[in-house]
Amino acid sequence: MAANGEEPLLSVSNLQTVFYTDKETIYAVDGIDFDVKRGETVGIVGESGSGKSVTARSIMGLIESPGKMLEGSSIRFDGQELTEFSAEEYQAIRGSGIGMVSQDPQQSLNPVYTVGNQIMEALEVNRGMSGEPARQEAIDLLEAVAIPDAARRLDEYPHEFSGGMRQRAVIAMMLACDPEFLICDEPTTALDVTIQAQILELLRDLQAEHGLSIIFITHDMGVIAEIADRVNVMYAGEIVEQAPVEELFADPKHPYTRGLLEAIPGRTEQGEQLRTIEGDVPTPNAPAEHCRFAPRCPVAFDACERIPPQPVTVEDGDEHTASCLLYPEGETEAERAEHHRAAAGERRRGRAESGGEP
Ligand code: SF4
Repeated sequence: MAANGEEPLLSVSNLQTVFYTDKETIYAVDGIDFDVKRGETVGIVGESGSGKSVTARSIMGLIESPGKMLEGSSIRFDGQELTEFSAEEYQAIRGSGIGMVSQDPQQSLNPVYTVGNQIMEALEVNRGMSGEPARQEAIDLLEAVAIPDAARRLDEYPHEFSGGMRQRAVIAMMLACDPEFLICDEPTTALDVTIQAQILELLRDLQAEHGLSIIFITHDMGVIAEIADRVNVMYAGEIVEQAPVEELFADPKHPYTRGLLEAIPGRTEQGEQLRTIEGDVPTPNAPAEHCRFAPRCPVAFDACERIPPQPVTVEDGDEHTASCLLYPEGETEAERAEHHRAAAGERRRGRAESGGEP
């Protein structure tokens, strides 16, 4: 599905989004790097509080006070630096270049207008269509997202739709904007398993048909296996592992990823209990001076409390990385500690030079 060897459509680098409160600074997204190629689906997975949705909102330009993207953060989309965009430019790109489907379709649908009105409005703003051609296109879009009896449904209000149908209507509205890129933030979480499977299939079909690139955010590893080409595992504001999806499931390297996978029904031996990761994701309220997963990590050792792990390539090629002091494999514990200490120092200097926080 993914196109290889070309400039990524989206490139996020050193993204730092912080929230200032009276008491503390929360490093909700703490210096993450990833890209999305044209036509591929990149998953972002992690428990709640890991920074997934703040990542999505940062890309969409939706961070408001007391939140802030720090200097040195970069979000390049189709050759443009989004962090330099004005509010108006962002509004325009949200309308046409990048669409977002969130967990709650009510957020995107206005309850006082019919579904048809809202899709037709999107067609008018983004494609200059009106009147009968817009109505016909709106019917075609509802049919494309498999809403039965689309011509009649067009004149219904959002509350007359079921949860699954509302989510389909939001996807139809997004398609009316002709986006190249879709950010799906837990779009199937509130839906039952059957409807969830249908929405995932719909997204795959639409992607194949329209050549969409997708970021798919979820806490559910099972969903990631279904939909993603490549995966970023997030924990407490950081990406702790990145890999192509088959490799991540076949050979997870980071202890957190292993924990998430052990919690999936069907992956453990028959009769064996599903494991869960004890404890909660900590609030990242200070610059990382250690591994934030250490308090929950079953294989933590002394250095994990003193050195912030940096990404290390863990397989041939550069597509699989893990931020953990167990790597690089083949080195002694002291060598690994030195490797990460040096990389963390370099990263800190780079951030200070670009105006971000350490
Ligand atoms: S750095 Fe240490 S605590 Fe963190 S995941 Fe690796 S082994 Fe566990």
